[in-house]
Amino acid sequence: MKIKLYPDSILRKRAGNIKDKDIQKLSKAMLTTMITNRGIGLAGPQVGLSKNIAIISPQTSQELNSHLVLINPEIIEVSGESEYEEGCLSVYGISGKVKRNSDIVVETGLPGERKIIKAEGLLATVIQHEIDHLNGILFPDRMVFPKRAWNLLKSRIKRKKDGKA
Ligand SMILES: [Zn+2]
Repeated sequence: MKIKLYPDSILRKRAGNIKDKDIQKLSKAMLTTMITNRGIGLAGPQVGLSKNIAIISPQTSQELNSHLVLINPEIIEVSGESEYEEGCLSVYGISGKVKRNSDIVVETGLPGERKIIKAEGLLATVIQHEIDHLNGILFPDRMVFPKRAWNLLKSRIKRKKDGKA
């Protein structure tokens, strides 16, 4: 699968709920894409799929032995605050500090088989970053000075187009 880059409009669309028959094949293809691109998380819209699915790498927590697949995820509890330097496969060229909740509780899964996941630290940050993707939100929106971040990125994209960098 190919990674969609900002300013692709699909990154700003709210994703729709996913049905069971889609999940197996999609999560496999997304996992491969995430690993190939050295990401630690990947959401549907990033691969052109406006669906509520996201993959989280086990590198985000010592408590994970394998990747997580989030299906129609919903954050139901938050507490604490933490700050990480974030980047994104779809927002190529900038990174920046983002404040998020340090502890979250997430409900995920198909109707009738929903389960609860508790997450903290980096895992909590990555889950919040990916759920943002499902709602059309990109990490620079959450930086202290979003306008500055977006302007920087836009000027870099423009320079690249003009062949100057
Ligand atoms: Zn991202």
